[in-house]
Amino acid sequence: MPSLSTLTRSMLTRRVVASSHMAITRPLSCRFHSTKHTRNFKPPTSEDLIELRERVREFTKREIPEEFAASVDLTNDFPAPMWRKLGEAGFLGITAEEDYGGLELGYQAHCVVMEELSRASGSIGLSYAAHSQLCVNQLTLNGNEEQKARLLPGLVSGEKVGALAMSEHSAGSDVVSMKSTARPVDGGWVLDGTKMWITNGPDADVVVVYAKTDPDKGSKGITALIVEKGMKGYTCARKLNKLGMRGSNTGELIFDSVFIPHSNQLGATNQGVRILMGGLDLERLVLSAGPLGLMQAALDITLPYVHQRKQFGIPIAHNQLIQAKLADMHVKLSAARAYTFAAAKRVDEDPEAGIDTKDCAGAILFAADRATECALDAIQCLGGSGYVNEVAAGRLLRDAKLYEIGAGTTQIRQMVIGRAFNKEYADHVI
Ligand SMILES: Cc1cc2nc3c(=O)[nH]c(=O)nc-3n(C[C@H](O)[C@H](O)[C@H](O)COP(=O)(O)OP(=O)(O)OC[C@H]3O[C@@H](n4cnc5c(N)ncnc54)[C@H](O)[C@@H]3O)c2cc1C
Repeated sequence: MPSLSTLTRSMLTRRVVASSHMAITRPLSCRFHSTKHTRNFKPPTSEDLIELRERVREFTKREIPEEFAASVDLTNDFPAPMWRKLGEAGFLGITAEEDYGGLELGYQAHCVVMEELSRASGSIGLSYAAHSQLCVNQLTLNGNEEQKARLLPGLVSGEKVGALAMSEHSAGSDVVSMKSTARPVDGGWVLDGTKMWITNGPDADVVVVYAKTDPDKGSKGITALIVEKGMKGYTCARKLNKLGMRGSNTGELIFDSVFIPHSNQLGATNQGVRILMGGLDLERLVLSAGPLGLMQAALDITLPYVHQRKQFGIPIAHNQLIQAKLADMHVKLSAARAYTFAAAKRVDEDPEAGIDTKDCAGAILFAADRATECALDAIQCLGGSGYVNEVAAGRLLRDAKLYEIGAGTTQIRQMVIGRAFNKEYADHVI
């Protein structure tokens, strides 16, 4: 089977050919440039994305068959060797620079990988996103060359595990009200506080942490810092026992006078909120592919079942009430997928327009609610079989619910969209 690096080489070759043709007709000033992509990024073609999707499917069939996904849910433990496997396949550095082992394929490609991994296992998909998007992509976009050279190769290969910590017990939706502080000392900062619900927290080697460096300035006094495993005073207090996404290890982190050298400051002092908010847009966009995978998984289980299961002498799929559910599931998935990939395509292909906060929030708002509905429909179509834990339908429901909460809840996404409209229409107030 061709590896992803072979695939990437062929994709990159195609791009080089394409760009050399383009150079004839396009002036240099038209070269692709975006602050949300790496320097050498060229948007993938739809054929590239189809090819990538096939490679990820081959990977999930081989490495994450259903029995494996079920055991991850049952044991509530992330399979540690999976990190290396994901790294070897090239998936952990989808948006990172080639210099550090990444593929520089952008956000459509990231969504493809996220969707297919989540189709196989929601919890592996979620941990994957926390590592590759929240941590690796934040370092890629905001790290300096020294930080990237030091941290990215290990994260991209899967030797190291990454996480991002902004939420706290008392600062979830209102995340900028965080209480963690970092005070300046000779050579760096001293970090104190706790972070709650951190995906990959119990395993993480590298954590992007937000803290108040000038508490009086509120949201304008936040700085992003990089905490590494082994730093004195940094511990994971506990692993949380969750309803769903079991096997995606979630933890509560404690920072007890942790010294953070200046070399581990990410971006400028007191500019953390920009990194945080910019990161949230992309996080929502890439995470919206998680519910897509779960909806596809719901159809994967339901369609064969309703065509095999007979009641009243006919397959239950021949009843119009079941057909209505199948149609709704199909339409919800198709609409959500179209929205996510249209938003990701625009981010990849139209840097001038930039990122539309409304659509990043909108894509996950729509997909998350639809995934919960599809999982419920899958259970209903399977009847008693859907209600027992030997079948994945219940797991899909438990996993899907998370997407209405993590990366900002449904209500916060609605608020983000509403506020964006208020900003756009600020001059229209009568
Ligand atoms: C499995 C899991 C993984 C996570 N991973 C991470 C991670 O890796 N890193 C990280 O930093 N965080 C992570 N989180 C935290 C997540 O981002 C927060 O849980 C989320 O932002 C909601 O915050 P909260 O739980 O404090 O809920 P609250 O903010 O207390 O909200 C509770 C309810 O009130 C509603 N609400 C709040 N304010 C308003 C309002 N103004 N208007 C209307 N309704 C409102 C909310 O929508 C929600 O329904 C994770 C959470 C979970 C469950």
